Amino acid sequence: MTQMKTLDVEAIRKDFPILARTVHGKPLVYLDNAASAQKPRCVIDAIRHVYEHEYSNVHRAAHELSAATTEKFEHARRAVQAFLNAREDREIIFTRGTTEAINLVAQAWGRANVSAGDEILITAMEHHSNIVPWQMLCQATGAKLVVAPMDDTGTLILDEYVKRLSPRTRLVACVQVSNALGTINPVAQMAQAAHKAGALILVDGAQAAPHQRIDVQALGVDFYAFSGHKAYGPTGIGALWGRAELLEAMPPWQGGGEMIKSVSFEQTTYNVIPHKFEAGTPNIADAIGLAAGLEYLAARGMDAIEAYEHELLEYATAKVREIPGLRIIGTSARKAGVISFVLEGIHAADAGMILDQQGIAVRVGQHCAEPVMDFFKVRATVRASFAFYNTRAEADVLAAGIRKVQELFS
Ligand code: PMP
Repeated sequence: MTQMKTLDVEAIRKDFPILARTVHGKPLVYLDNAASAQKPRCVIDAIRHVYEHEYSNVHRAAHELSAATTEKFEHARRAVQAFLNAREDREIIFTRGTTEAINLVAQAWGRANVSAGDEILITAMEHHSNIVPWQMLCQATGAKLVVAPMDDTGTLILDEYVKRLSPRTRLVACVQVSNALGTINPVAQMAQAAHKAGALILVDGAQAAPHQRIDVQALGVDFYAFSGHKAYGPTGIGALWGRAELLEAMPPWQGGGEMIKSVSFEQTTYNVIPHKFEAGTPNIADAIGLAAGLEYLAARGMDAIEAYEHELLEYATAKVREIPGLRIIGTSARKAGVISFVLEGIHAADAGMILDQQGIAVRVGQHCAEPVMDFFKVRATVRASFAFYNTRAEADVLAAGIRKVQELFS
């Protein structure tokens, strides 16, 4: 057995320049990681290095700079492949992020494989980006969107999920970790059940990939989407992983340069994967920055990151639970580093503003998950979301900050 690394969090914090700044004269306590995480210096440096020393368009030109940039860009693809433990690098398609990856599957796979009477099964805790693309597909094809329910802790009811699988189900689209609740879904089990019913499964890994080891082969899923900016990488880059045989069988999504083999006015033939799904000039520098971020995470160890964040979540949860008038929304037994809560008699927006004045960055609102808010009959929550650079001391500052909000509004 390999021994798990332990994290040197103080050293890690020094790798993230922004964590040293103050906000409203107070040390920044950044607890909005589920929305977007901060960037280590190696990511910032990688992007700067490309533009200062190597930048050119990829894949096309015959010159030295283009060859160097192409090599880095394709290295980035291999970095994503390693991060997800994908079998082949051609299974990795660069996208703008999770949203674009899901839309790609909904449109390219969906239009070729879904028709009237078919069903797409999602869960009650999906982010809008894993609801709306499927609604659009259903509208275009006459298919039906089916929703597997959760219980009042925010846990998926597995039996009910299985009951909703049928020969009509073409695809399950589910979140691995809910951004609004923190719930971790049993994706491997869900994949087995989906396949037994003859359906494929797409996983929205936006909140999972930055916080736990992902192995798409062990999970046994068919498509996996994640965003670079939540995984300590740049904004505007992310990836879709799909099983090669599925991607090969899918028609292209967007048309343009790079995705073709040959074009005439009469007929166009398409490129091989992954290029078939990467029309136009890609986000070169940010893909290279993403690779730097993923390699940084791998060096710290995803198992160590998960264990540290889990312990931090338990500590922070116990701290905020002591606060009278605070209700946590999302109390599943298996949770990642998200604490969503409401305060009796206080609007989430007001709480967010008072916390901000204390240097504490949280998110308030519906977290792009309106159906989750409806289910819990709340208009909005305050969400503190943790990263591996957060500390117990910061959890204490959060708890004290919330008490201050209550004092001001009592
Ligand atoms: N799914 C989940 C669970 C998310 O948390 C988010 C981002 N909040 C998304 C999808 C969409 O990610 P992006 O905006 O990076 O495309």
